[in-house]
Amino acid sequence: MTPALAVEHLQCRYPNGTLALRDLSLDIGVGEVFGLLGVNGAGKTTMIKVLGTLLRPSAGRVRVLGLDVGRDRVEIKRRIGVMPQDINLDTYLDVRQNLIFHCRFHGVAKRESALRVERWLEVLGLRDKAQEPVLRLSGGTKRKVMLAKAFLTEPEFLILDEPTAGLDPEMRAFVWNSVLDFRRTRRTVFLSTHYMEEAERLCDRVGILHGGTLAALGRPSELTHKVGEDGRPLYIEMHDVFSNVVGSAA
Ligand code: ADP
Repeated sequence: MTPALAVEHLQCRYPNGTLALRDLSLDIGVGEVFGLLGVNGAGKTTMIKVLGTLLRPSAGRVRVLGLDVGRDRVEIKRRIGVMPQDINLDTYLDVRQNLIFHCRFHGVAKRESALRVERWLEVLGLRDKAQEPVLRLSGGTKRKVMLAKAFLTEPEFLILDEPTAGLDPEMRAFVWNSVLDFRRTRRTVFLSTHYMEEAERLCDRVGILHGGTLAALGRPSELTHKVGEDGRPLYIEMHDVFSNVVGSAA
């Protein structure tokens, strides 16, 4: 079976010479929820941009749903959903228009688009903001609209760049539930996060990115399992796990 994501010796260098990703190889199966952890500057957003076809690899090969990120950009874009870090909304259109246009662009029928958009506006508590231009929304509300946009087309492959960054606890729980619901449909999710707790809740496997390459790969429990003096597992902050892994690899 074709993996949902196949990365072979990926390298990404920015025009200023920064080597953001180096010799990264990774396979993700269909239906898997994969989490990419790493400190700031590790290369998470660069990786997400490559998967979303916004950035071309400098070397190596990346296939999303069997399609090449360099050659098959249009087809990949049609089949994925992305929630990036940077705003991907038309700020002069209102919330509803942004979401309707996105659905229609992805070929969802008119009536079905309207149904889906109204459902998302309802669950996100955005009905009273539906006619508000995105320009006037708070940062948190913009992120809600971006979240709806990623899920709306029911993509085969969902890519989320730090989806809960800057969200309040209630909204964070909502994002978690949305990912878990999505996972039940046996579709693939690739997300980046700072939080091991988030990865533990959501992900089948986690990769820890360090200096642009994978320093560790495994199930969250394999990377966090540690026992305290009282014999109970300790909650470990992401950077603790990170320094353990990188420290032991060095
Ligand atoms: P993360 O998302 O894990 O914080 P990034 O992918 O944003 O990491 O960054 C990885 C590295 O690439 C960092 O050294 C960062 O400074 C650099 N970088 C990111 N974007 C650019 C860019 N547009 N031009 C040059 N260097 C960049």
